[in-house]
Amino acid sequence: MPCEVESRFLVLYGSQKGQAQSIAEEISELASEHGFTAEISCLSNVEKYNLDSERGPVVFVVSTTGDGEPPDTALRFVKKIKSLPSDHFSHLHYALLALGDTNYANFCNCGKTIDRRLQQLGARHFYPTGHADDGTGLEIVVDPWIEGLWDALKKAFAKMSATNQEATAQGAIAEKKTEQDSQIQEKLDSSVVSLHLLKLSDVETKKNVAEPSVSESENSETSGAPLGASLIRSVPPLSGSSLNVPALPSSFLDVCLEEIPAEEVEGAQEDAHHVAEEGFYEVPVSRALHLTGDDAVKSAILLQLDLSDQDLLYQPGDAFDVRCPNRDDEVEQLLLRLGLKHQRNQRVHLQLRKDTKKKGAQLPSYIPKKCSLEYLLTWCLEIRSTPKKAFVRSLVEWTRDGGEKRRLQELCSREGSADYNRFIRDTNTCLLDLLQAFKSCSPPLSLLIEHLPKLQPRAYSAASSGLRTPGRVDIVFSLVEFPACPEHPERTGLCSGWLTHHVSTILQPSGTKVLAEKARSDSPKIHIRPRANNIFRLPPDPSVPLVMVGPGTGVAPFIGFLQQREKEREEKKDTAFGETWLFFGCRHKDKDFIFREELEKFVENGTLNHLKVSFSRDEPDGNEPKTKYVQHQMLLHSKNIVSILLAKNGCLYVCGDAKNMAKDVNDALMEMIAVELQLDKLESMKTLAKLREEKRYLQDIWS
Ligand code: FAD
Repeated sequence: MPCEVESRFLVLYGSQKGQAQSIAEEISELASEHGFTAEISCLSNVEKYNLDSERGPVVFVVSTTGDGEPPDTALRFVKKIKSLPSDHFSHLHYALLALGDTNYANFCNCGKTIDRRLQQLGARHFYPTGHADDGTGLEIVVDPWIEGLWDALKKAFAKMSATNQEATAQGAIAEKKTEQDSQIQEKLDSSVVSLHLLKLSDVETKKNVAEPSVSESENSETSGAPLGASLIRSVPPLSGSSLNVPALPSSFLDVCLEEIPAEEVEGAQEDAHHVAEEGFYEVPVSRALHLTGDDAVKSAILLQLDLSDQDLLYQPGDAFDVRCPNRDDEVEQLLLRLGLKHQRNQRVHLQLRKDTKKKGAQLPSYIPKKCSLEYLLTWCLEIRSTPKKAFVRSLVEWTRDGGEKRRLQELCSREGSADYNRFIRDTNTCLLDLLQAFKSCSPPLSLLIEHLPKLQPRAYSAASSGLRTPGRVDIVFSLVEFPACPEHPERTGLCSGWLTHHVSTILQPSGTKVLAEKARSDSPKIHIRPRANNIFRLPPDPSVPLVMVGPGTGVAPFIGFLQQREKEREEKKDTAFGETWLFFGCRHKDKDFIFREELEKFVENGTLNHLKVSFSRDEPDGNEPKTKYVQHQMLLHSKNIVSILLAKNGCLYVCGDAKNMAKDVNDALMEMIAVELQLDKLESMKTLAKLREEKRYLQDIWS
């Protein structure tokens, strides 16, 4: 439908890792196809937009980070809107897409906070809020939400123009709504609903319809037996269906490769410059020790990092980002597959395409100006990331074989969503896997730079206290392993796999005494960057009792807490210290009970008053009740825990796996509060929420 003059709307995003930004960019790119003009800005770019005078509809896309905190780029905005008077945004019509992860507490909290506050400030929805869950796949909500947005914008513009006409005709502010207006408003203002409810059949927009180009028999192998679907093969009805394929994303980069003159070969120097710019410090690994036995299912490794040459201070509860490269063999295969094997040492020169239609296109800031191709693929791009549908759509254009083209179209289409989830998202299929499977696909380097995200460092909690071991920080990590599947071979996690290999020359077997060791000139080095956590801290008042819950490597920050407490107890003899509880969990007492000796020592010297351990795969000793996981052990001590939290003003800390443990612990806590205080579920939830608000129930969890 053609749009009237009034077709401009504003897209504002608050992004931490770039997901909200890329969705906002997608919206703004698609806008012109639907007859709209979008202006896009990051929420932190306050000079680029002005909501006080904004008359067009506004679309917010905001993510949530940490324990429900706003992303850094939205912090100021959230703070600012909290202080505005109640009708400040009564002129504003908006839609909001909140991104979150249900594996974490406070799902979509930043989006919900902004939404609530905008409502309080008088702003009105022109489209229901979407809550997209990274835990199940953002696109499940994001895709239909974007599909429905265009229709909602049309209605919003129609309504706004009707209101304006009325205002002009009557020479008055259009307070009175027409019957039609109020019907629309009723729909739009209806309480925030999840976009799971959006009926796709209501969405008129049909774009890029691809007819079936390959018959089932053409698209399957000629073994005779009927074959099931796979990454490269589809079955009816998908193989015979017309497809709604997303619009082709506009390319925005020109990339050329140049020989580097011999006198300018940068190598190490250039790397050092890039590393320093990103805030990393190079530190030697003075000691590496297996904490688990050879027969443990998951191996955990302790690294002692020598900080003595760096001005790096930290508190227990903080973490450190570790910079890691992509694997050499994967970079090699990618170079080979792109036909750029002999250009690896050439310099990558990036420019914005003059004819690009991409709104707000920018050169990626994380790619150093003069880096070589090999450096780019090793240190700058997350080549293991799961290609988004927009990337898959772009790959279609660079695929020669008709059958492969069709399958890629299916995988990015609306009809092929289940196959995309099954063969790409859920299996963490990466670009290299796609290129191995789709042999005739040869994308240009520019496409990779446009679509692959920045290679992110991985965080590891400090497992030590600087008070006890000045000039040193310990971290502990478990080696992440992914079994082979039809889409890709067996793999280890990028950083945990690299670290294990990187320190292999000094790696000591478990059982070796953990002594402080000085770094040597040949000690392996890694790059780290402090990542302060100003909330996950020991309470300033040492008399406050603590409950710590940290199974597996989740125990790391509590080792730091307890080392700090131990030292403080030695130094402040007259001070009263609150009681301390630690709930730890692992599979077997003899294989993966990490930090066992150190924890038992804390118990002996009174630093830790109660150490409660659950072994998920061992039978209990004697008459002890079986407690498979930490939450079961906690339930046995619910009286004490509830009393610490609600009678003695204590603090509860949870650290580790976000996927199951944190939720199970939360459920157990609710149950304990309900039983001990005779409350119903709602009241018990409220009590927990209050503890969170008071920062006495703290989580540091990761997936
Ligand atoms: P990655 O390659 O990043 O893979 C990890 C995730 O990617 C998987 O969980 C999965 O979702 C996905 N994935 C990738 N490929 C596949 C595949 N083929 N199949 C299935 N899934 C796949 N960890 C610790 O061990 N100790 C700590 O003290 C610690 N502290 C942390 C503190 C903070 C603040 C945060 C945010 C995280 C912390 N972590 C800690 C987690 C750590 O940062 C890493 O996430 C972890 O080590 C895995 O990184 P990786 O690069 O080895 O794995």
